[in-house]
Amino acid sequence: LDVIRDVEPRVADAIGAEVEDQRSSLKLIASENYASPAVLLAMGNWFSDKYAEGTVGRRFYAGCRNVDTVESLAAEHARELFGAEHAYVQPHSGIDANLVAFWSVLSQRVESPALEKAGVRQVNELTDADWAALRADFGNQRMLGMSLDAGGHLTHGFRPNISGKMFDQRSYGTDPATGLLDYDALRETARDFRPLIIVAGYSAYPRLVNFRIMREIADEVGATLMVDMAHFAGLVAGKVLTGDFDPVPHAQIVTTTTHKSLRGPRGGMVLCQSELAEHVDRGCPMVLGGPLPHVMAAKAVAFAEARRADFCDYAQRVVDNARALADGLLRRGAKLVTGGTDNHLVLLDVTGYGLTGRQAEAALLESGIVTNRNSVPGDPNGAWYTSGVRLGTPALTTRGLGTAEMDEIAALIDTVLGSAQPGLTSGGKPSKAQHVLEEGVALRVAARAAEL
Ligand code: PLP
Repeated sequence: LDVIRDVEPRVADAIGAEVEDQRSSLKLIASENYASPAVLLAMGNWFSDKYAEGTVGRRFYAGCRNVDTVESLAAEHARELFGAEHAYVQPHSGIDANLVAFWSVLSQRVESPALEKAGVRQVNELTDADWAALRADFGNQRMLGMSLDAGGHLTHGFRPNISGKMFDQRSYGTDPATGLLDYDALRETARDFRPLIIVAGYSAYPRLVNFRIMREIADEVGATLMVDMAHFAGLVAGKVLTGDFDPVPHAQIVTTTTHKSLRGPRGGMVLCQSELAEHVDRGCPMVLGGPLPHVMAAKAVAFAEARRADFCDYAQRVVDNARALADGLLRRGAKLVTGGTDNHLVLLDVTGYGLTGRQAEAALLESGIVTNRNSVPGDPNGAWYTSGVRLGTPALTTRGLGTAEMDEIAALIDTVLGSAQPGLTSGGKPSKAQHVLEEGVALRVAARAAEL
């Protein structure tokens, strides 16, 4: 830190404070983790200075032999770890990985007379009229993804995201009575809508998804199945999710982030079947800038770590801990979306405590418990205030906490939320007065928590 402090002390201080924050709080954000020192160090080095557009052995810059080494290693480890036919490790983030996937499927699937005329590799020969025809062909495609309030991600066709603008989009949700995915309803929607791409995967769905059934539905309507396993990639790598619940054997294309349950550096990745590989490998320059070689080096290290036997033990403990946290909350009378969990996350409906998600998030933060507010299915409070809080166990499991501690955390959460004044909000959009009260709720709860 002294090297940084010499240049800009405020950055050095912020880094120190961040380490302190992350050490002294209970990190229950389901998408966060603690990467190992090996991963962090692999990211902070001279690879950061290197440009390497292109793919291994086929770069647009000279002097890329060391980048080739780390990119090949990361891809090889990824293929072995997930049993995938092809791995593309350049995406800078999960959103980038999804964009690469969308454009790859469009390139592969869209029957554009203009594109056929040009041949995929000779787009330079397209005339202006061909380009116009091609844009129209690409712009009229359909995507079916999980709705945001059922737990899907905004890149799965949600309107404020580019995916919702690129595609004619429809969503599938969950059964309002159980909160569970309704495959029959999804099949009906797919039959009616006939999308080019069906996106499976989630950010806030606490149960398993049967990817064999999803593929059956996709095949029936001629769609490509894309799975975004950003949240649960660590559980797939750690062999907790196998068979019907492992997306890799079932989906034509799988995207992920590398920094959540997989515990690697911040980044993304695309896995795919061989027939999509040439399209996926055009991610840069199709939608990505130059690769980040320092991050690819760290991905190689993280995937090597995940191939060790103890990562399977870690993944199992993540799930055991989530279940213990859910059981602890349920025993204390809390309401959970779907009534429990099968994976690494728990979605707590906080309306029973008379709070919005935003109030609950603030109250927990004041008490040293870091979470994020989250919509629940059919949320009456909308996406900003929400009615839920999402809790995840990957980070605290990395810190060595087990099921007994999860029960203690459940007790803490219940105490903190139960100490807030009930009736501040009761469904519907919170009133202005309620917004003003939010700070106060957090402070009162913090005071109560301090007395404990
Ligand atoms: N896909 C899913 C399912 C996610 O939950 C997220 C992030 O929360 C992303 C994609 C986007 O990842 P990133 O923030 O790395 O772009």
